[in-house]
Formats: sequence, structure tokens, C-alpha cells
Amino acid sequence: MTFFNEIKTYIGFGPHEAEVLAELRAHLAPRFPEFAEHFYQVILTHARAAAAITGGPAQVARLEASLESWMESGLAGPHDEVFYERRARIGRIHVVIGLPQEFMFTAMNVMRMDFHGAIDRLTDATHSAIVRRDAIDKLFDLELAIMLRYYQRDSEAVVAQRERRVLSDRLAAMQALAAGLAHEVRNPLNAAKLQLELLERRLRRTVTDERLIEPATLVQHEIARLTELLNELLDFARPARLTAVEHDLVSIARHVIELERPSAVNRGASLELEASTDRVLAWVDAGRIHQIILNLVKNAVEAVRHDGHVVVRVATAIDGGAAITVSDDGGGIPPEVLARIYEPFFSTKEAGTGLGMPIVHSLVELHNGQITVATGEHGTEFTVTLPPRAPEPDVVMRESVARDADV
Ligand code: ADP
Ligand code: MG
Repeated sequence: MTFFNEIKTYIGFGPHEAEVLAELRAHLAPRFPEFAEHFYQVILTHARAAAAITGGPAQVARLEASLESWMESGLAGPHDEVFYERRARIGRIHVVIGLPQEFMFTAMNVMRMDFHGAIDRLTDATHSAIVRRDAIDKLFDLELAIMLRYYQRDSEAVVAQRERRVLSDRLAAMQALAAGLAHEVRNPLNAAKLQLELLERRLRRTVTDERLIEPATLVQHEIARLTELLNELLDFARPARLTAVEHDLVSIARHVIELERPSAVNRGASLELEASTDRVLAWVDAGRIHQIILNLVKNAVEAVRHDGHVVVRVATAIDGGAAITVSDDGGGIPPEVLARIYEPFFSTKEAGTGLGMPIVHSLVELHNGQITVATGEHGTEFTVTLPPRAPEPDVVMRESVARDADV
């Protein structure tokens, strides 16, 4: 049963009510302009409600006209699915213009009382005032139920969208910072590495005591770690340029799994691939998709205990796009961590850089894709969905350091 039919049944709105309303319309239509004017008068005298109306008298006149046709069609019907869809849009407009929800009910009641008053003053005997009031009340409750439903849905969507935008802006700012930093660090680090190799070679020529050389080896090791971090920083800051071509996601995933299996096996975990079909084609930048899967798989492997399982799934989505899922049966991500996983440099690991997930996030965004996560005590599942059509090719989103200049 559709939502609308369900509500109609619940309220008890049927052919009889529709007929009473249609008849009532003939009597009350001349008064609709008056009701509409009263409706907006009341809104305009309340600062918080009036704040939603920013277009001055011209907007009020337009709103009044559409309210009149709203009354007209509400009474005339037919109260079918088309009616429902059209009504649903009104709830949406309230969210967009930012009319506080409480005024939706109170403003509707202003109009309801106008209808009641007008009904009480009718003198014809087609239907009693009670029957007519009941039909109007049922109609208003239907309208409110529809508005409320869309109010809630759209409010949630608006909040989610705002959050995504804030996150993207913050990531872009951090990427710019990372690019600058990496650029500055790269040259001195390179120089230090070369000088150190030189020093080590000279030392080896003149001394035989291995202990004297040991510090140089340790510093080499530290420099290697710094270089690794720098590379990750560069990945994070990399120019957001996509070269998307049609690619088989299954083979990309298979490649990542082959690379990562040894480290999974080392931890006693299994790492498997499940593909819905032999090939899943999508318009992607293969190198970037490789990195997305790699970062997710690394985290998954790091999250599972001994005997844990990590599964990578690749499938074609219903809309013709593709979905990549990486799931593990580790301990899950606690809420306070989950809220920060896309934050650069946020890590709960001793040797973590906290750049894996921010990189994933911006690469998914670059593909116009989406990433969602489901997590709980039985494990975590990240799903990356990619759109069916080719993303805009070669979009330069932010300036950064070129790849060939890497350390
Ligand atoms: P890093 O792996 O260097 O810590 P990431 O950006 O890759 O940085 O991940 C950030 C944090 O998100 C991790 O430190 C971890 O707390 C959490 N996380 C990511 N994936 C998982 C997962 N599959 N299971 C549990 N925690 C995870
Ligand atoms: Mg990681």
C-alpha cells in the first residue's frame, strides 16, 4: 500500500469525504482569497515565521495566489497519487525557505478555523455543518501528514549535505597545507639522505668498527620512514586530476589483494575477493581506484584479530554504476572514532599516519562517487559506489605537487 493510501485509510478519508469537499468548494471558493490573505497576515506578524519570507509584498502576493489554488485543488480532488506528489513538494518548499516546522501546524490551523467559521455560516441543507467540518478536518490532517513526512526527509538530507560540504572544505584546506609542506620538506630530506649515504661510505672506508656506523644506519631507517610519510602526504595532496577510462574493477581489486595477501597471512587473517560477475566495468582512474581499495584493505587487515576475515566485493549496481565493498570482522569503529576517520592525521594506531581515509575520501569524491560505512561489534564494512557515467575528465580541483617530482 502506498503511503498516501495508508494515511487515507487511517484517517478515514474516502469517496464520501471527497464528495462533501467538492460540494463545499462551490460555496467557499469566493472566500479563498480572503482566507489566503489572513493566512499570510498571521505569518507576517510573527518574526520567526516571517523570516522565511524574504521577497517582500511581491512574494506574499505570489504565495497567496498559490495558496488559493492549493485550497481549490484540495477541495476539488481527485485525491490520488498525483495529488500526493504535488502536495509533497509543498513540504519540500517549506524546508527550502526555512519555515520553522512548528509554524506549519499553527498556520494550517489558522486556515482550518477560517473554514470552520465559513461552514457554520452556510445556510443550505446539502450536508450538515458537522459532516462538512469533519471532511475539512480529515483533508487538513492528510495535508499535514504529507508535509510532515517530507519535512523530516528533506531536513535530514539538508543536514547530511551540509556536513559533506564542511568536510570537503576542510579536506581541501588540509590538502593545500600538505602540498606546501611536502614541497618544502622534500628537498632537504633528499639532500640529507644523499649526504648520509656519502658519510656512511666514507666511514666504511676509514673505520672497521661496525658500532661507529650503526647510528648512520639508524638514521637511514628514520629517513626511510619520513620518506614514506612524505609519499603519503603527497598522495593526500596530489593534484585532483582524473584520467578516467573504462576499466574492470574486478582485476584492480584482484591485484590489490595479491599485493596485500602476504601481510594479511602474516597476521593470520584471510583476504578474499568476491565478484558478482567476471568483470565489472566502470569509468575510473585505475591507479586511484587501486589506492582506494588498498587503503581500505590495509585498515581492514589491521582491524582484524588473528583468524579474522577480510572480504572485498565488487558488483554492478542497479543504476548501472558499480559498488566496491571492503568488510572485516574486526572490533568495529566506536562512534567517537567514526566521527573523525576522514580527518587528516587522525589515527588510533601507534604508527598510523591518519591519511589513509582522507585520501580515500577525496579520491571517491573525485570520481563523483560516495562512501558509506556500516560498523558494529561484528566488524566494519565500507562501501564505495561509483556513478554509471564517466566523471568529468581532467578536472583540476586543486593545485598541488606533480607526481614525477616525488622523493
Ligand atoms: P591510519 O590507518 O594511519 O590510522 P586511516 O586514515 O587509514 O589512518 O584510518 C583512520 C582511523 O580510522 C584508524 O586509525 C582507525 O581507528 C579507524 N579505522 C579505519 N578503518 C577501520 C576498520 N576497518 N576497522 C576499525 N577501525 C578503522
Ligand atoms: Mg590506514
